[in-house]
Amino acid sequence: MTQRPPVWDLTFQHDDVDSKVVAALERLAQAFRVLLWRVGQTHGLSPIQVQFLCYLLYQPKVHRRVSGLAQAFRLTKATVSDAVSALESKGLVRRRPDVSDRRSSVLDLTPDGRRLARRLAAWANTVRDSLSFAGLDEKTSVLNFLMRLIVELQRAGVITVARMCLTCRFFRPDAHPGTPTPHHCALLDRPLGPATLRVDCPEHVGVEVAISMGNPVQRSLV
Ligand code: SF4
Repeated sequence: MTQRPPVWDLTFQHDDVDSKVVAALERLAQAFRVLLWRVGQTHGLSPIQVQFLCYLLYQPKVHRRVSGLAQAFRLTKATVSDAVSALESKGLVRRRPDVSDRRSSVLDLTPDGRRLARRLAAWANTVRDSLSFAGLDEKTSVLNFLMRLIVELQRAGVITVARMCLTCRFFRPDAHPGTPTPHHCALLDRPLGPATLRVDCPEHVGVEVAISMGNPVQRSLV
């Protein structure tokens, strides 16, 4: 296959939709970085510390370990441990021994950490509020496009953790064909439609990413 010019080569980019999608996603990534940096600066925290506090506020105990943070944010355990130690020294996080695994500890927010995390968790609301220009159908299409992109990036080894229905052992695609909610969750025993597929599910149990662009799951999602 001929090598295409880089995404950032404007003479090529102007006439290439793929490159423009990538460039637009990069602008959005920049917006997230700015928002995280701003909220962190207000509270004397680094962007990753803000993300850790929000993660610990909402994720179940099973994911609240140094190893879980390292996987979710694609960092080394040493880097996570340093950031967690900084949060401990600020009195926002504490480690407690995990009774089910003596080599590991569970990370909990302290009451101060919980209060702060609730305030910090609004950091991405600006982006959500900015979606009001679009209707539900358009947003659902975008959601499905993004989930498929995440699956592809998981396949490529770029994204490690994405607890989405599309990669879940309990996902039953096209279990209810011809209905507005054609899929099914075998764990929750609940029909799922394009708008109710989950992006970050606490009950998710992963399977090998084996969804191809042409299979029935993907076709029915579009
Ligand atoms: S357990 Fe969660 S991720 Fe898995 S299919 Fe059900 S709703 Fe989707």
